[in-house]
Amino acid sequence: MKGHIKIPENGEKITLENGALSVPENPIIGYVEGDGIGPDITRASMRVWDAAVELAYGGSRKIHWCELFMGEKAGEIYDGDYFPDETLDTIQDLIVAIKGPLSTPVGGGFRSLNVSLRQALDLYACIRPVKYFSGVPSPMRKPEEVDVVIFRENTEDVYSGIEFPSGSPENEKLAKFLREEMDVSFEEGAGLGIKPVSEVRTKRLVRKAIEYAIAGGRESVTLVHKGNIMKYTEGAFRSWGYELARDEFPDDTITEDEVWDEFDGEVPEGKIVIKDRIADIMFQLLQLRPAEFDVVATTNLNGDYLSDAVAAEVGGIGIAPGANIADHVAVFEATHGTAPKYANKDKVNPSSLMLSGVMLLEYIGWREAANLINAAYPKVIANGTVTYDFARQMSNATEVSTSEFATAVIDSMKA
Ligand code: NAP
Repeated sequence: MKGHIKIPENGEKITLENGALSVPENPIIGYVEGDGIGPDITRASMRVWDAAVELAYGGSRKIHWCELFMGEKAGEIYDGDYFPDETLDTIQDLIVAIKGPLSTPVGGGFRSLNVSLRQALDLYACIRPVKYFSGVPSPMRKPEEVDVVIFRENTEDVYSGIEFPSGSPENEKLAKFLREEMDVSFEEGAGLGIKPVSEVRTKRLVRKAIEYAIAGGRESVTLVHKGNIMKYTEGAFRSWGYELARDEFPDDTITEDEVWDEFDGEVPEGKIVIKDRIADIMFQLLQLRPAEFDVVATTNLNGDYLSDAVAAEVGGIGIAPGANIADHVAVFEATHGTAPKYANKDKVNPSSLMLSGVMLLEYIGWREAANLINAAYPKVIANGTVTYDFARQMSNATEVSTSEFATAVIDSMKA
């Protein structure tokens, strides 16, 4: 079913030229407001993004927002279809979009709308920058040392969903094959899952992480894996990551071993250090010595745990922004869920979506607008003007609503 999406007439589409984004002054950008608290945080964040663009460019640039539909709103409009083809096609056409959280319909045939979206558009890199804003409540002694960007592989490993339930004919067939032909043993009736990790998908993820590190002047890229146990999936991720850095970025990168063997531990000027850490120790290190880490590239499940764990160090998923990116198509998103009990109460923290929009502005090259929000946001928090989730962890805070928080950020940008 088509015809529900209205492309704004005064905007122009972002296009690709020689493999790079070409962004007009009046780009059309897609948005999905999302379910539950989605409309509240989208409305508030959009005011902030528009104000930042207006202030940064004095009216010469303007985003033309194009509403797209997924989740419950799509279900109403598209006759029960929560994941309309028209939305998918339009995201591909517009190249850049942002979305609020979505609830997955029970029995709707999807594991999750978010996972389906990532798979349908092959959004293979889930990017989560996690950094501390002064004043945000944190359990860390030195939260200001946390400034990492996690690149999590989004299509393989457990996300490939190759699982066979105990007792199913598929499970029994696979179990028989494994026992009889591959000579492996396991308990009778065990559920079975397979995690593929391929060279091509590992390398495109690590390539993106290294390109990001180069563009952002970052110091290191850490490959996180569980290769001591799963040698041919997690271990291969590590090996392919190093191989890619060596083959494709020899002038920009150096391995940690080379730094010690050849340069006595001093990183040569202009080199990004490629290192690796086993996943379990990485959780400890990111709590005890976060300053040692910068860009992180990892497999799907490790990245899932790690992203939320690190976000918790600097205020939780209520403020962690995120993006899912293919070679060019990019969907930015709030990383929390729909928090249905707060829907339409103008209560929750819009920061996760608002800061995802900052990532979007950076992605389209509108850094001046992004910087305005980046500069204003911490001032508002440091003033103690916060939504309920932060207020309950701070003393002397002034609790404000979602929309009031957005207004405070806008006022701070103008000041
Ligand atoms: P959730 O919606 O993230 O909410 C869990 C709790 O986190 C909330 O009750 C609230 O805590 C806090 N929270 C979340 N967002 C917040 C915000 N913006 N500001 C302040 N606090 C916030 O997780 P859930 O209850 O497990 O999942 C609800 C639905 O969301 C499910 O249908 C799930 O499938 C979906 N989901 C969607 C996404 C996505 O679209 N990316 C991600 C995760 C889950 P307090 O109650 O302590 O105030």
